[in-house]
Amino acid sequence: MKQIIGGNWKMNGSGLAALEFLREMKRLGSGSVSTEIVLFPPFTILPLIADAAADAGIETGGQDIFWLEKGAFTGEISPSLLLDAGASWFLAGHSERRHVIGETDDIVRRKLQAGLSSGLRGILCVGELIEERDAGRTEEVVKRQVEYALRDLECVSNENFVIAYEPVWAIGTGLTATPDEAQRMHSLIREWVAGISGSDFADNTRIQYGGSVKPDNAAEILSMPSINGALVGGASLDAENFMDIVRAVPLQD
Ligand code: PEP
Repeated sequence: MKQIIGGNWKMNGSGLAALEFLREMKRLGSGSVSTEIVLFPPFTILPLIADAAADAGIETGGQDIFWLEKGAFTGEISPSLLLDAGASWFLAGHSERRHVIGETDDIVRRKLQAGLSSGLRGILCVGELIEERDAGRTEEVVKRQVEYALRDLECVSNENFVIAYEPVWAIGTGLTATPDEAQRMHSLIREWVAGISGSDFADNTRIQYGGSVKPDNAAEILSMPSINGALVGGASLDAENFMDIVRAVPLQD
């Protein structure tokens, strides 16, 4: 299965920096790898980089999405606005949306459903807080997030749906789950997906790991059998670091 590396710029960057980043990615060979690469810049940058991203062999996506098409929802971005801006992907349930903005499982699910129904491809982010991990509740929390999002979800396929397991305590902290810990959680997530959507679907679901993935730990993480890519925050802001992570993807047979 083709690995997928996402770069989540969060609230960083600028139009000019994004164009320079894409020129550099192209120079470093982003278009010649078989790994799927998706960049998630701030919304305002998306339309500016549509052509340059395509030229570098990179897809783009929104860091968030709203679940309705239009109306009095100040500040929100609908699926069709994302498509109009040139995006083909979106994130739903990033931990900063869940825990800084207060999005519930229900909101995340609505966003996921709306995005997939519109023809966009979505990455569902799940992961436990440090308090939940310390209380031995990691599995319960992540299982709930996965099952809540996936049950009775429509328009979902292995082409348009990816899960990112991102332990919240590892995001932006420099801490990472060990490759074995991540592998164990990914296998469990695959079992939970199988319980809802069947084992054929689960076996072909790409599950990324996220949380302080850097050039020096990427190869070990990406070589684990149940890990099918990475969602990268901080290290995606620099083209050389990001390309080093892309290059750490093991060769597929
Ligand atoms: C993220 O934003 O999804 C992320 C994993 O960030 P970082 O790589 O900086 O931990």
